[in-house]
Amino acid sequence: MSRLRDDIDYRLERLKALYNAIEVREEAIVAALHTDFKKPRFEAIATETAYVLSDIKNTIRQLKSWSRPKRVWPSLLNFPSVESIHYEPYGKVLIIAPWNYPFQLALAPLTAAIAAGNTAVLKPSELTPSVSAVLSELISTVFTPEEVLVKEGGPEIAQELLQERWDYIFFTGSVAVGKIVASAAAKHLTPVTLELGGKNPCIVAADTDIKLTAKRIVWGKFLNAGQTCIAPDYVLVHASIYESLVSALKVEIEAAYGKDPELSPDYARIISDKHWVRLEAMSQPGKVLYGGTGQRDQRYWAPTLIAPDQKSAVMQEEIFGPILPLVPFSEEKEITEWIQLYEKPLAFYVFTKNIRWAKQLMRQHGFGGGCINDTILHFNNKRLPFGGIGHSGMGAYHGQWGFETFSHRKAIVYKPFWGDIPLRYAPYLSKINFV
Ligand code: NAD
Repeated sequence: MSRLRDDIDYRLERLKALYNAIEVREEAIVAALHTDFKKPRFEAIATETAYVLSDIKNTIRQLKSWSRPKRVWPSLLNFPSVESIHYEPYGKVLIIAPWNYPFQLALAPLTAAIAAGNTAVLKPSELTPSVSAVLSELISTVFTPEEVLVKEGGPEIAQELLQERWDYIFFTGSVAVGKIVASAAAKHLTPVTLELGGKNPCIVAADTDIKLTAKRIVWGKFLNAGQTCIAPDYVLVHASIYESLVSALKVEIEAAYGKDPELSPDYARIISDKHWVRLEAMSQPGKVLYGGTGQRDQRYWAPTLIAPDQKSAVMQEEIFGPILPLVPFSEEKEITEWIQLYEKPLAFYVFTKNIRWAKQLMRQHGFGGGCINDTILHFNNKRLPFGGIGHSGMGAYHGQWGFETFSHRKAIVYKPFWGDIPLRYAPYLSKINFV
């Protein structure tokens, strides 16, 4: 049996070793992210290496407190008793990761799994082979293969792994593959976390601060060239400010990436030729407001604004790329009609100075998490759970939520031998008046 299971100090030691191993390889990781899809250096550090390092540091700091058994108020019916929750690792977990944040989305779940005392097999994405190679090397220097093993490869490897019996499966990726994972898990009644995607609405009211709204949407949308599960997918903007918002978005795109974003070191590439072709097909010619061009051999697609037809592909499926459709609305019921066309999204954004209205929208609609007057930021706080609902996923992680996700919570009641109250024991007949 693995030492990780019962020895918190050993878990802390491994997490410290993981931290140090990442720190010394930070440049290699940033370079691998650049090789795979030109992830900009700043984004590679901010959203991948520094993010994971801070996650591990926080976990190391908090682990003793998270893993300590928690006393709860005893039930009066159990008097006298001591009642508590104990955290037990599931055992052997499978983590399947996507390509868009290939380092972070592999190692953040792994950190939580190790913190909770599990052993793990990690299957990174085949679309980021350079990052996968760094991950394999990194993990093999920190853990024994029995503790953590990286299995590189594509869907066929994932399918093979899914045939096995696991104690927990943590999957990040598309809705379609999420369903495959869930049905494989069901065969063994294995619990799962599914971190999936969806069409994230971004509602912009007439009373908003247009310039700052545009700046924050451009940042959240074109970060990682739009290949972010919580990027705004489409904008619903009040018709009275449609033109002004489009103009402000163009200004902010150029402020961020220059007149020719292909030359910008701060703009990532599309992950694969297949995705490039998919995005090209979504950029309806004649409907493009800005951008709409690319270089297939470079897997470059320009930041693109589009006035879509309702029935077009860009309004049917998750875009997952640098194309932002803008749809005007005049009445509030149109917002609801649009949102209800889709499954519950992973993220939800509202820009308005009317905070009561924003809160009402947030209450009214189901979604994973979101922001009022910004994008993406709810991801950053380790005290907030991160996860979807419905087709955007099930379960959550980050910080203590991750530790809890990878732990079974055992409920234990301790009864002393003194003070036994006989009320519950048969024969019941004479006690019936007490209940
Ligand atoms: P994907 O589902 O294609 O692949 C994810 C993983 O599943 C990869 O490791 C891949 O090898 C494996 N896989 C692919 N096909 C498989 C199959 N048939 N059987 C078993 N395994 C298979 O997803 P992706 O393209 O890597 O990532 C994009 C999707 O992930 C988007 O929908 C996005 O919204 C979502 N996503 C969600 C989050 C989140 O935290 N909720 C984060 C990032 C991405």
